[in-house]
Amino acid sequence: MLPLVAVAAIVVSPVAQSKLPAQSPVNVVPEAIQIDPTHPKLDVSYGHSELELKYIRKDAANPNGCQVRDHEETEEAEVKPGSGFVTAGGVRFDLIQFHFHTPAEHRFAGRQYPLEMHLVHRSAAGKLLVVGVPLRAGEHSTVDTVLAKLAPECGAPVHIHSINLNTLLPHNKHTLHYQGSLTTHPFDEGVQWYLAAEKTVSQATLSRFQGLFSHGNSRAVQPLNGRHFTEVGLI
Ligand SMILES: [Zn+2]
Repeated sequence: MLPLVAVAAIVVSPVAQSKLPAQSPVNVVPEAIQIDPTHPKLDVSYGHSELELKYIRKDAANPNGCQVRDHEETEEAEVKPGSGFVTAGGVRFDLIQFHFHTPAEHRFAGRQYPLEMHLVHRSAAGKLLVVGVPLRAGEHSTVDTVLAKLAPECGAPVHIHSINLNTLLPHNKHTLHYQGSLTTHPFDEGVQWYLAAEKTVSQATLSRFQGLFSHGNSRAVQPLNGRHFTEVGLI
């Protein structure tokens, strides 16, 4: 049996604290934001790509699954390999797909947007980096072009003519970087998150997406457990 003092030492050690879950999404609170001018910027190298918009289905074994909306299901746009990548700390992460959640998964001082886009990038070593973009109802944007026709749950993907991937990002180039996880099964940690400024999408497109996922397709916010956000610019 361990002496009590040794047990207490384990509980308060930084090693034990680092094993607390680092799950996503989270609520961004202003007091957890750090300014670090030396932090490397996120270098974005996006080009043009045709897209295949697919309905991602999680209940393929269910005979009624084509009508049932699982909260982990979504509309996902696959990009052509090599059409876009970002570089963070000298590591290249290729853009592989982007998809949407309603309502938004990340919150900002408790505020929740109606929609959030996740641009998913993967390094050669299999590490993931996701750029999250909150979307509110307003002016038409490239997101309207992408979601003009939603892919049916058990039908053919929708082909979308070439878009400029840069136009998926907001004009405001500030992001908040933190360490998190996938927001769907298996919730793997070690995901680099960059939360971007808001963009707009038309109310008609927003309503169409909300109509498909009438019960929502987002995960609840998870505890921060002492994590911080660092302001990082996009270049
Ligand atoms: Zn997502």
